[in-house]
Amino acid sequence: MRLLIIGAPGAGKGTQASSIAEHYGVPAISTGDIFRANIKGGTELGKKVKAIMDAGDLVPDEVTDEIVVDRLDQDDAINGFLLDGYPRNLHQVEALDSYLTANGQRLDAVISLEVDPELLIGRLLKRAEIEGRSDDNEETIGNRMAVYTSQTAPLIDHYAQAGLLVPVDGVGGIAEVRTRIIDALDARS
Ligand code: AMP
Repeated sequence: MRLLIIGAPGAGKGTQASSIAEHYGVPAISTGDIFRANIKGGTELGKKVKAIMDAGDLVPDEVTDEIVVDRLDQDDAINGFLLDGYPRNLHQVEALDSYLTANGQRLDAVISLEVDPELLIGRLLKRAEIEGRSDDNEETIGNRMAVYTSQTAPLIDHYAQAGLLVPVDGVGGIAEVRTRIIDALDARS
């Protein structure tokens, strides 16, 4: 399975990604997690992206694309993957398409996790209390929502036109949403 999961900040992408990936026996690859691990480890990449992430902006495409290509080239991703948080704009869509075409691969489905925008802010503020993510504060959240609406939301139409979109209601318990995703994916195959 080669899967993407798309959703607004706070839609529950990360939570669902690991368990869906485990179900299909593929690695969950989160660009946000890769960046956060680099910040924590004090690497050059971490230093480069910290201020950008704290502001809720997107890390430049050339940096992000290279990280994803390196990760997809690793052995455990050869037979499948679930990308969480990538692509996030139409340029990244093209970069991913070129990579897949060059490797004779194609996506199987794009999960779109749908949550009413009014619920998202509350979820993010709650996560801020639990996880202490430095980009989960009201100011940054506002910018991340705006970036999502202007840059990432258009991907939903793009993948719908490509016949890959699997819209899933993201409101409910974690196990309930997980079952919806797996049922929707299995119904396609
Ligand atoms: P996430 O964990 O997916 O919410 O990502 C947290 C932050 O990491 C985002 O607000 C961006 O600053 C950065 N980031 C993650 N994925 C990408 C991406 N595909 N392109 C650019 N920036 C990204």
